[in-house]
Amino acid sequence: MSTLPELSFPAINADWHAHATKRFAGPFVGVNFDRVDVDPVILPYAAIQSGFGLKEFYQNPRLGMASVCWTNEMHDLLSVGHWFYSNVWMRELGCTLKYTDTLPPIVDGARPIQKPEDVDKLVPVDVSGIEKGPTFTELTSGYDFMKNGPLAGFFVPIHWGFCPTAMSAEMVGVDKFMLWTIKQPKLCHKIMDTIVDTSANAAIAIAKRYGFAMMVIGGVLANSDLLSPAKVKEYGVDYHIKLVKKAFKGGAGPQLWYHLCGNHSRDLALWKDLIMSPFTVMHVGYKGKESYPIKEIKEMWGNRATIMSNVDTKLMYRGHPKEVYEVSKQMILDGKDSPRGFVHGCACEVPAYTPSANIYAMVKAAREWGKY
Ligand SMILES: [Zn+2]
Repeated sequence: MSTLPELSFPAINADWHAHATKRFAGPFVGVNFDRVDVDPVILPYAAIQSGFGLKEFYQNPRLGMASVCWTNEMHDLLSVGHWFYSNVWMRELGCTLKYTDTLPPIVDGARPIQKPEDVDKLVPVDVSGIEKGPTFTELTSGYDFMKNGPLAGFFVPIHWGFCPTAMSAEMVGVDKFMLWTIKQPKLCHKIMDTIVDTSANAAIAIAKRYGFAMMVIGGVLANSDLLSPAKVKEYGVDYHIKLVKKAFKGGAGPQLWYHLCGNHSRDLALWKDLIMSPFTVMHVGYKGKESYPIKEIKEMWGNRATIMSNVDTKLMYRGHPKEVYEVSKQMILDGKDSPRGFVHGCACEVPAYTPSANIYAMVKAAREWGKY
């Protein structure tokens, strides 16, 4: 198969895209249209469905983004194309990324911080450093293609600073970082400041080039399985606020998507002070091992943000369409009247090898129970 996206996919159906655009805009303009939108957070799933692998998906952003758009039409999902991975802006800070056939890019080899003295030498990457770096160059090759090519209608310039806590931990090695949160908190904060300032500068660089930058931020490591509630606040919430403040001040935003990944059973209330623009999506994964109840998320944020639901990703991968349909139906009934809109989704990115029948089960439930 050619790796030129223009040659890999036929043109998108313009009528479908116009309809999906109106539906997608619904929650943000306050006029719900057609039905609840479905966003299973399609990433390498799109590559597998389109006949190529994970490595190509991440190494060739143009092809990756085009496959997401095509899969969105195939399953009647979003009118916008998302493409991202967690270990972003890390190469600029001295990490090496490894691309494999089974995982998103992973940080590989010796970490830039080996000993406490290395932390003193850390300096955030400024906007011009970001613009010259490998991540921005790669990302803009995809974004420029999206903006100026046949998929322009799908284009949203996205900045993601996926979990500042997890990115900071990768600078040192996760185990060592967790230990340092107890023994060397000052060092951890210096690393986190560097990560957050670098990430904010990246958001500013994207906004500078494209006029705005939707921000995707995840609390992945900052959750109840790995940190105490007090540490989730100290190493998660406070840095999310800092990142958004700095990025917005530099011209990024106004769209925000908060993805609180994993188990937030003990810490969810601590995230209530997150900065919210009028275009904010709030997405929480789990309460213990169960999907976080939509009614509770709606109660907490429904008046300030669009709520996104959270079908267990293990169910998506291993469950049957009937189970996915029933779970989806309940979530849609619980969430569809949320004051600032509702999107039906998975608890995290849908696994790459999820049966397509389970995506269809989500969409079928939205068509049958999520009508406006
Ligand atoms: Zn996640």
